[in-house]
Amino acid sequence: MAALQPVRGTHDYLPDEARSHRHVEETARTVAERFGFGEIITPIFEFTDVFARTLGDTSDVVTKEMYTFTDRSGDSLTLRPENTAGVARAFISGGLAQNVPVKLFYRGPMFRHERPQKGRLRQFHQVGVELIGAENPLADVEVIALGSQLLNALGVGGRTILHLNSLGDPESREAYRAALVSYLSGHRDSLSRDSLERLERNPLRVLDSKDEGDRAVVAGAPRLIDHLNEASRAFFAGVTGGLEALGIPFEIDPLLVRGLDYYGHTAFEFVTTDLGAQGTVMAGGRYDGLIRQMGGSQTPGVGWAAGVERLAMLMAADRVGAPRPLAMIPAGPDDEVEALKLAHALRQGGLFVDFGYSGNLGKRMKRANRINARAAIILGGEERANGTVVVRDLDSGEQETIGLAVLEEFLVRFL
Ligand code: ATP
Ligand code: MG
Repeated sequence: MAALQPVRGTHDYLPDEARSHRHVEETARTVAERFGFGEIITPIFEFTDVFARTLGDTSDVVTKEMYTFTDRSGDSLTLRPENTAGVARAFISGGLAQNVPVKLFYRGPMFRHERPQKGRLRQFHQVGVELIGAENPLADVEVIALGSQLLNALGVGGRTILHLNSLGDPESREAYRAALVSYLSGHRDSLSRDSLERLERNPLRVLDSKDEGDRAVVAGAPRLIDHLNEASRAFFAGVTGGLEALGIPFEIDPLLVRGLDYYGHTAFEFVTTDLGAQGTVMAGGRYDGLIRQMGGSQTPGVGWAAGVERLAMLMAADRVGAPRPLAMIPAGPDDEVEALKLAHALRQGGLFVDFGYSGNLGKRMKRANRINARAAIILGGEERANGTVVVRDLDSGEQETIGLAVLEEFLVRFL
């Protein structure tokens, strides 16, 4: 064990990073609330079956990426690799079916044993939404619109492109699968080992492969979107028509399939070219088969999940600044307690006030600059005797003596 190292693929978020992180989460929650989505918090671990049964035993997540362990009661538990299955489980076990459509927002850590790299962690965080119980393609449109408004609210909308595809209904996918298998079987020699296996177990996944050789084969493959039956085409037209009505631009991407088994009809991703290989910031789709597959009654659903780290990275240019504090500076040791009391009172009034714990006046002024304080409030013996403080504007260097009675009012200019 490399003790005192964070576990590979995990990360400590220090205050600046944690702030951008929180900004992403809070913006997502606010935008979701505008659309009528309330927050749900599900456990970060579930019975392994919740994921094994829903993600499909051929998915990469289940076969290679899950953190699964046996707990002290002998139950097989898994740290959630994603939250849709947990939300669906909560929908069923919580009897939420009475109130459909149910609109839920979530946020929190997810765990996948992947190869760590930029934008790919073993503990990462997602924000996401699920709209359960609506069959109308306008539900898909609203879910995508919510995602689009979130990206705009974060200021990154202009740097992402919405990729859209339809996986059709089960009948369409069956027809397509046959066409795809026959095409891919003719190109076995050029396929990667992984894709040869996918060809046997879940051929649609080959479309999703990141292997160069696979991608060359896939470029010439028949397209799912050309195999949609009439009902699926009509559904897709409902989605594209709705997006057009809202003025949300999109590109049809015939190779876009979701990595998980329970998706049908709409599949989409918001992608950026600004993050290198890990360019998908938000991904989602329709999962009409999921809840029944888990043992609930037939209930449609549509949703997306977005990577908080990737969104925060994309925003890095316009980092959310920390509020600039005021530095409370006792001129000498005898002034410390009075200064502490004054800091306490100003904070009570809502101001950000830093208090250092050591050093003479000069050292404390240096610290004020280091923490990027907006102003210093200096309190010495003379000031104490007069009921005043000296306030120095650290940007302009100007200073003034201010009476305590009007101090709070005076300091408002530094907010
Ligand atoms: P990828 O193709 O990048 O592996 P995925 O299809 O596995 O993505 P989803 O399961 O759809 O991803 O998760 C939705 C979003 O969560 C992704 O678009 C991404 O922003 C984020 N995400 C997924 N896995 C990770 C990870 N290991 N580290 C950081 N973010 C992740
Ligand atoms: Mg993945």
